[in-house]
Amino acid sequence: MLGKRVGVIGGGQLAWMMAGAAQKLGIDLIVQTPKKDDPAVALSDEVILAAINDANATAKLAQICDVITFENEFINLEALKKIAAQRTCFRPHLEALEPLLDKYKQRCYLQKIGLAVPKFKLLNERSNIEFEFDFPVVIKARRHGYDGRGTFIIKNQAELEEFWQQKSSESMLVEEFIPFAKELAVIAARGVRGEVVVYPVVETQQEEQVCHRVIVPAKVTPEVTAEVEKIATHLLNKLEVVGVFGIELFLSKEGKVLVNEIAPRTHNSGHYTLDACEISQFEMHLRAVAGLPLPSPKLNCSGAVMVNLLGYEHSEEDYSEKRQKLAQIPQTKVHWYGKTESRPGRKMGHVTILVGDRGLSEEQALANNIEFIWYGRSPLPQSRQN
Ligand code: ADP
Repeated sequence: MLGKRVGVIGGGQLAWMMAGAAQKLGIDLIVQTPKKDDPAVALSDEVILAAINDANATAKLAQICDVITFENEFINLEALKKIAAQRTCFRPHLEALEPLLDKYKQRCYLQKIGLAVPKFKLLNERSNIEFEFDFPVVIKARRHGYDGRGTFIIKNQAELEEFWQQKSSESMLVEEFIPFAKELAVIAARGVRGEVVVYPVVETQQEEQVCHRVIVPAKVTPEVTAEVEKIATHLLNKLEVVGVFGIELFLSKEGKVLVNEIAPRTHNSGHYTLDACEISQFEMHLRAVAGLPLPSPKLNCSGAVMVNLLGYEHSEEDYSEKRQKLAQIPQTKVHWYGKTESRPGRKMGHVTILVGDRGLSEEQALANNIEFIWYGRSPLPQSRQN
């Protein structure tokens, strides 16, 4: 095996979920993460307590690992390049991350390799975007956005004025709003021999730009599924990467697939793979970066729903009562990340329900039930509750 000791930049829930797979594969996991109560710390073989973008800490990590990978992309790429020059093996490699970490550069790259993306441009100070884009229009921070933070959907001229008044000096991009029929996502992995495996295409359901639910598999035509698989394979081959990538897409009302965003790591839309697939995205990622063969990413059931448990208050509670109630639902697995502090919108855990072939309305009803127990109400508007 090439990578017996795998270093992970980031010690949040993604590294935490990787830890179970590492144990199964006999891999040592060493994380670089800022706080000693970060989720992955307790399960890691060693820890370097340092900020994600602390390249000196990554240099130390490099000395004790065979290969370094990422659970978080808020890194200092330029500083890491100096470490890579000392023969440190990063998977995915740093040149592949170069066009992906900045949302504007990412859009340019995707367009360059022939993938369809929403119409976009760089946002200049006070530019007359209302002449080039219809409302609603979408404005995004180029870096450090996540869970919808840094993404603004501007509905009219008044909101645009308000946006200009509050805008900081950070660089942003503007793009057309896609009135999508569905949002889709897919997890794909590429191994050291160039083989690509693609997980089932899923539907993601967002509220206020934050993912609440994932429906597995997405109810789409075989043509759409094939198109998404083609996009994923093309992208990973063009980047020549090793590891798991999450790809988020829009399915337009006319059936066209556009790429929204690439995550160069394991992704929330693939958490269902822990319970509903023969190989989880976390094991697949470790297999890829350790140079092991990639097995087929098949479902082990006919379908599933994943519901995120998002924080809805400031609290240090561990919500054990609610978690017990959720765990009592048949065919349900609760994953609790062990974060010591809850904040509104913070990902605290997730629930996967294996649902079989029961149709979308039943899947929505099961998800509604989970959300009702967790939030004490459903966070979805009435129109989405059936
Ligand atoms: P983040 O990186 O924070 O997840 P995204 O760019 O993926 O941000 O946007 C979050 C959500 O905002 C998307 O899942 C989608 O629901 C909505 N969104 C983003 N861009 C567009 C767009 N161009 N058209 C319509 N909705 C969009």
